[in-house]
Amino acid sequence: MKYWLYFFIITTCISTLLLGGMFYVSQEQHTLLEASRDDLLVQNHTLLEKNIFQKENISSLQTQVQELQERLGDEIEKFDELEGRVKDSLKTVETFKKLSETDPQLLQKYSKVYFLNEHYEPKELEEVPGDYTYGTRALLIKEQISPFLEKLLEEAQGDGIELRVLSAYRSFDKQASIKQGYVATYGTTAANTFSADQGYSEHQLGTTVDFTTDTIGGSLSKFKDTDAYQWLLKNAHNHGFTLSYPEDNAYYQFEPWHWRFVGKELAKDLEKDGKHFYDLSQRTLNTYLINIFDD
Ligand SMILES: [Zn+2]
Repeated sequence: MKYWLYFFIITTCISTLLLGGMFYVSQEQHTLLEASRDDLLVQNHTLLEKNIFQKENISSLQTQVQELQERLGDEIEKFDELEGRVKDSLKTVETFKKLSETDPQLLQKYSKVYFLNEHYEPKELEEVPGDYTYGTRALLIKEQISPFLEKLLEEAQGDGIELRVLSAYRSFDKQASIKQGYVATYGTTAANTFSADQGYSEHQLGTTVDFTTDTIGGSLSKFKDTDAYQWLLKNAHNHGFTLSYPEDNAYYQFEPWHWRFVGKELAKDLEKDGKHFYDLSQRTLNTYLINIFDD
């Protein structure tokens, strides 16, 4: 009986201790779990706040970027406009420079009614290559025109056309002595039909040549029947040359051998429109001066 009682008491005590211990542990765990949950909630909240803050930041940055892009766009536009204006100004300066360096006489009309000053002498004359001249006399042409004339002569030669330069630059005095010679030989009236007075000749410009062939030489009246003349009618404008006094022109006798350099642009336009140099007004001709030596 006693042992049983002891056993009962001891068992009860142990059970009580165990239960108490378990209850205590369970309470502790609960407290710990609650604390962890609170921590997590706080952390979660913090993260959410951070997230919102970052989103706001991103949105603000996006706005700033957009603003910068817009400003950059404006600046680029302004720059482009400025660049365009600078280019325009440079072009204008270039045009003025080019014009100031271009002899205004080059596209002036000269014939019986237009007079070229006796003191006029073109700058920079050079010799026409001897291979292309008729006779042994050295012929001079304006330096800037020389490459155009040489190309024309080369092309004619390449096409099997016999073409020579008989006369090129003639000074005021030279023209005067030529005219005097003609007047002495043929009389003033006859001479006036085929020879210009000094100061009225395009030859004084250094831009004009008389062509011939080895076959006809100085007999220029035969030039209109040559292949060379036909070739010039088809091709001379591509090299910037034009026939000054075509058949039935109002200014002067027909001179199929007499070709004047007026620049490719004008020569091509004249050919295209079926017109001649003296048909155009001086005002129109002047607009071509700026590009006279353009290739
Ligand atoms: Zn001539």
